[in-house]
Amino acid sequence: MASYVASLMEEVKAKNPAEPEFHQAVHEVAESLALVYEKRPEYRSAKILERIIEPERVIIFRVPWVNDRGEIQVNRGFRIEMNSAIGPYKGGLRFHPSVNLGLLKFLAFEQVFKNALTTLPMGGGKGGSDFDPKGKSDMEVMRFCQSFMVELFRHIGPNTDVPAGDIGVGGREIGFLFGQYKRLANEFTGVLTGKGLNWGGSLIRPQATGYGAVYFAAEMLATRGETLKDKTCLVSGSGNVAQYTLEKILDMGGKPVTVSDSTGYIFDDAGIDRDKLAFIMDLKNNRRGRVKEYADKYKSAVYMAVDPKREHDPLWDHKAQCAFPCATQNEINAKDAANLLKNGVYVVSEGANMPTVPDGVQQFLDAKILYGPGKAANAGGVATSGLEMSQNSMRFSWSREEVDQKLHTIMKNIHARCAAVAEEFGSPGNYVNGANIAGFMKVADAMLDQGVV
Ligand code: NAP
Repeated sequence: MASYVASLMEEVKAKNPAEPEFHQAVHEVAESLALVYEKRPEYRSAKILERIIEPERVIIFRVPWVNDRGEIQVNRGFRIEMNSAIGPYKGGLRFHPSVNLGLLKFLAFEQVFKNALTTLPMGGGKGGSDFDPKGKSDMEVMRFCQSFMVELFRHIGPNTDVPAGDIGVGGREIGFLFGQYKRLANEFTGVLTGKGLNWGGSLIRPQATGYGAVYFAAEMLATRGETLKDKTCLVSGSGNVAQYTLEKILDMGGKPVTVSDSTGYIFDDAGIDRDKLAFIMDLKNNRRGRVKEYADKYKSAVYMAVDPKREHDPLWDHKAQCAFPCATQNEINAKDAANLLKNGVYVVSEGANMPTVPDGVQQFLDAKILYGPGKAANAGGVATSGLEMSQNSMRFSWSREEVDQKLHTIMKNIHARCAAVAEEFGSPGNYVNGANIAGFMKVADAMLDQGVV
């Protein structure tokens, strides 16, 4: 099997050069599948993984727009339609200067397995642009979103491909994108998720990824007869996922002490309470400011700016029991993982996608801590997007309690399924294998049924 993974990776690297995140994501899944191929050799002979690795379709397009000074700007737009074996393509749009083809292919690939884990009928996709919304006026963001949708609209639809938000794409951007889609297509359909509440959005969708990551942590803790009560929690990021991770940690009696953004992080030994969280939400969602302002306002907090020469992230070097990385990929390097373990962290639930480097993942697995990989732990967001699609199709809205309860049940089921599959395939407690294998088998069985397509 080691030789299968090695030759597969050789081919993946040759065919997809300069896409390190994509290689990393494929390698992790391929390694987990070693356990499956012994029991289900038909997956290997049908070249299921080889087919999943190759996107069904990749769309790359020019996005020209005009800034407030009247200057022409050109960005690049992408949509990766990765796999539609179990439903329409589904996955977020990311607007960030680091966006490129390989980054989005990694995210689309992860999305295929994550969406399968939710048990809802959603295929996998991802898209976005190297456009940076930071520092842009609302009008500039609107002009960019409208130009982006002028091309994207011909590739998406409620039964074809249903994008959502991700880094840099929140309620404001989804509004501008939806408005332009509706204008071009001349129809009002559930083509995007994360919509506003009074035009087709679902209650709890903004909260879902963060809440889900905390529900997943609570399920992992329950296997040891513990809860989040009084646990000190390190959280990174301060965007959508981080904010609602903080809120749910507080609901469950935990004590969050950190948040960050790309310029630095704050450590608040007194704990981030509900008033302080409200300050963060206003700072990030309305005033679009930097987390440094938190330390200016609350004297119990210290701020540390990002040092580009640093070899580790000091955010992960505090005494705590739980860690919730909620910013971006590979934000926990090998040294950070060692620091987390050294400081007593034994629960890691990933709100972000692939935030831990492979060496760090291996350290968590070797230490046998409760480690929930992103494709399981942050699946609550896309699951609730699936619930938004259902409500749109029924032209009906569920109450906050109904959606939250469905989300909670889905997260419990994902946890239970990952745990059961990990055990069935000989690696009890290994949620990485559990998530990869459970997600893969659902998609693989559908692909076997549908022939060579
Ligand atoms: P967001 O609202 O845009 O917030 C992202 C946060 O992470 C911001 O605080 C941002 O700081 C920080 N960040 C982004 N890139 C960074 C970088 N390269 N270095 C350091 N900090 C960085 O995005 P989000 O929706 O919360 O997404 C966060 C993570 O969760 C991503 O990995 C995303 O793929 C994953 N995720 C999101 C959802 C969802 O429903 N939104 C679902 C599943 C997974 P700045 O503001 O300074 O850039």
